[in-house]
Amino acid sequence: MQIANNHVVVLHYTLKDNDDNILDKSDDGSFCYLHGASNIIPGLENALTGKATSDNFSVTIPPEEAYGVHDEAKSQDVPRDMFPPEPEVEAGMQFNAQGPDGQTVVVTIKKVEGDTITVDGNHPLAGVTLNFDVTVVDIRDATAEELEHGHVHGPEGHQHD
Ligand code: ZN
Repeated sequence: MQIANNHVVVLHYTLKDNDDNILDKSDDGSFCYLHGASNIIPGLENALTGKATSDNFSVTIPPEEAYGVHDEAKSQDVPRDMFPPEPEVEAGMQFNAQGPDGQTVVVTIKKVEGDTITVDGNHPLAGVTLNFDVTVVDIRDATAEELEHGHVHGPEGHQHD
């Protein structure tokens, strides 16, 4: 079986930046996603198309096919009172905020100066080239319900209440 749209794929992966720092890794092959449903970044999804179980490969993905380039326009100064009084806001903290299309975006505090706080709405991995080492652990057909929902169900996937 080769990876194609509407397959559920289980992966083992290690993700590093260009300085060999490990940014993320799967827990013993437990990462799974629905191929063709934009569950993962486009560069990785494209690299996986046509791969088979036990294939192991490395792929380098530029920011444009990963989490986007760093966009200075996504940095803005906001007044301190936009944040709850507690906890103390410090550079490096991350908050969930609502993006222009209603989606949840992570904003990072860049700078606190008096009552002015500079927030950065870029994804933490924006502008970062990603180096994946990937092993394909398993491939199966998605169920009708998974296709309808656009994500994987079951022990390794999305759990519904
Ligand atoms: Zn679902």
